[in-house]
Amino acid sequence: MSWESTANYYRAINEEVKEKLGGLHSARIVLYSVDFEDIEKLQQQGDWVSAGEILLDAALKVQAAGADFLLICTNTMHRVAPQVEAGLDIPLLHIADATADALLVPGIRTVGLLGTAFTMEQDFYKGRLGRRGLEVLVPDEADRVSVHQVIYQELCQGKILPESKAEFLRIIAALAQAGAEAVILGCTEIGMLVSHEDTEVLLFDTTAIHAHQAVEYALQDQVKVNR
Ligand code: GLU
Repeated sequence: MSWESTANYYRAINEEVKEKLGGLHSARIVLYSVDFEDIEKLQQQGDWVSAGEILLDAALKVQAAGADFLLICTNTMHRVAPQVEAGLDIPLLHIADATADALLVPGIRTVGLLGTAFTMEQDFYKGRLGRRGLEVLVPDEADRVSVHQVIYQELCQGKILPESKAEFLRIIAALAQAGAEAVILGCTEIGMLVSHEDTEVLLFDTTAIHAHQAVEYALQDQVKVNR
């Protein structure tokens, strides 16, 4: 939802399409970019129904413009995925399903989760991972507050601060210490702050995973034809 991570999705999808198809190929994308200020106010008020209406309206415009499937480019707003899905004819590629698929490939069972307080505390995300057999660990309350604040006050505003990076790395290490075999960067802006090079803990970046799944899905027929 913040344009900071939307830009990263756009780049990741196009880079992978270019890598797979070569030449001047790029992704055909219908992008509806929301005003995140409106969305964030509704999140704070807990008015998920109104937030869902904004997203469904946007999704219907994307569908009308000819998209074959939909991505909601944030973890948190999958809180309203059922409302959006119910009003659409095209499929929605759910970010938690894509993440579970990626975690299950190397056989991970216990995983740490970093994201907004909504994502770390409510059931729409953790429950969905749980139904795939994953045990999800979240930071303690003080650390959840800290992660949430960094997301909204820094990352969603394009601010990358070394002290916040150190704080995230400390929290990632604590999750590993508590038994997590890997940690999900379950907010689409966290990859701007920490990456694989910063820690020995295995990280699963939901932006990269979701973008990759979208490319695989979009190209499934085309890649078969090219082979
Ligand atoms: N993009 C973030 C996420 O993946 C947080 C901002 C938001 O969409 O609420 O959860």
